[in-house]
Amino acid sequence: MTSMYTQIFQKILLPFHEKVIKRRNILDYREFLEESQWWSKEKLLDYQWKELEKLLKHACQEVPHWTQIFKSRGLTGTDIKSYSDFQKLPITTKDDIRANKNQMAAKNYIGKTWTKATGGSTGTPLQFDYTSDSYDWRVAISKRGYGWAGCEDGMKQAMIWGVDIGNPPAFKKIKSALHRRVLNIRLFNSFKFDETQMRKCLAELNRFKPEIIIGYTNPLYNFARFVQDNGPVKFRPQAIISAAEGIHDFQRKKIQEIFQCDVFNTYGSREFMLIAAECKDHKGLHLSVENLFVEIIRDDGSPAKPGEMGNIIITDLHNYGMPFIRYQIGDMAVAPREPECSCGRGLPLVESIVGRSLDIIRTSEGKAIPGEFFPHLMKEFRWVKQFQIVQDKIDAVQVKIVKTDGFKDVEFNFMKAEIKKITGDKMAVDYIFVDDIPLTKTGKFRVTVSNLEIKDKFPSPSGRG
Ligand SMILES: [Zn+2]
Repeated sequence: MTSMYTQIFQKILLPFHEKVIKRRNILDYREFLEESQWWSKEKLLDYQWKELEKLLKHACQEVPHWTQIFKSRGLTGTDIKSYSDFQKLPITTKDDIRANKNQMAAKNYIGKTWTKATGGSTGTPLQFDYTSDSYDWRVAISKRGYGWAGCEDGMKQAMIWGVDIGNPPAFKKIKSALHRRVLNIRLFNSFKFDETQMRKCLAELNRFKPEIIIGYTNPLYNFARFVQDNGPVKFRPQAIISAAEGIHDFQRKKIQEIFQCDVFNTYGSREFMLIAAECKDHKGLHLSVENLFVEIIRDDGSPAKPGEMGNIIITDLHNYGMPFIRYQIGDMAVAPREPECSCGRGLPLVESIVGRSLDIIRTSEGKAIPGEFFPHLMKEFRWVKQFQIVQDKIDAVQVKIVKTDGFKDVEFNFMKAEIKKITGDKMAVDYIFVDDIPLTKTGKFRVTVSNLEIKDKFPSPSGRG
């Protein structure tokens, strides 16, 4: 089934590109990861724990911020023997990193790291350092995860993705364009994905006939709805990979129906690249445990129970240049009810990613309205093209709606009544029809946005990159 180009690419061009030109260990790590995914869960967790112990010892010795933390708790770098020991270490927030970045760099890696930034959809951007070895791990993990959807380098891929913000230097633009040409990738900017762009995108995809489409979930969903009315689709991808945001069942169904292929959800971030991804059995997302230690915890710090939503806390096992230990990324996930996946991989699961796109809306009576409520209601109205719920005060919300043809008063009244049922009588609900709802700086779309003071907000994850 693999095309000649893909074969040549994988056997000749890619090893040359990765090893000789860039001298990376990516292929070696990928080989290891292809094997380790089939290990038993116990063996994988054992491997993960040993990597964690090494990291903590290093951080305690070489990273001033962590030396201080271990000391203040009367611990040495080798005192962490169990998960309950590990929980004695504090949660690291984005604000902690902004405030202490220099103290968080490892002394023995100064000058040997690269710097990267997250966009910061809710606050100022976050800058952090990482090592080339850590980069190799990330890329290998990402390639494996995308491989579960059947995506390999050299295949024809279309990406509906956030393109560099601002004005990147010309050499960088040319370099990225060349890189994509070699990799057989077409890129469409999801930051500007209006009808004109979607029309162009569909025409180009009909010519290019991608084997894989990778995109942010909301632009993919909007595109599927556009294609439904403006088709036809003259290609049949092998798979679609949704990324960067959680995915609702109705979104997955619509995308599958329109493009006639399976949809694989993945979860990643600028800080770590791929964190978790679905295999073809879709029992949840398999965590990248060889590279990351991922916790899902309640606000009081205890682990979330199966089926319960909690904060995602990440420790990067291989970024020795600037160790991220118990880092609160700002997204939420549901702890798995299924203990293992039917595919046979030992990699632990997370049930679903809730992401930052769904802030919780609060009422003055102390009620929490899960962000999930709104997409489930709004999908019933064909004339709602896009919407966003914004809460600035505890007793008021704004419902912004971009409407298309087919608006019906009777449906609008029904919508208002349903929302009133949930918000109660004390909440003032303003309905505003707008032409456009801007994306965040990182190209993500936020369905619900809570701008309440931290004291009114619960939970209060820090800004999301
Ligand atoms: Zn699986």
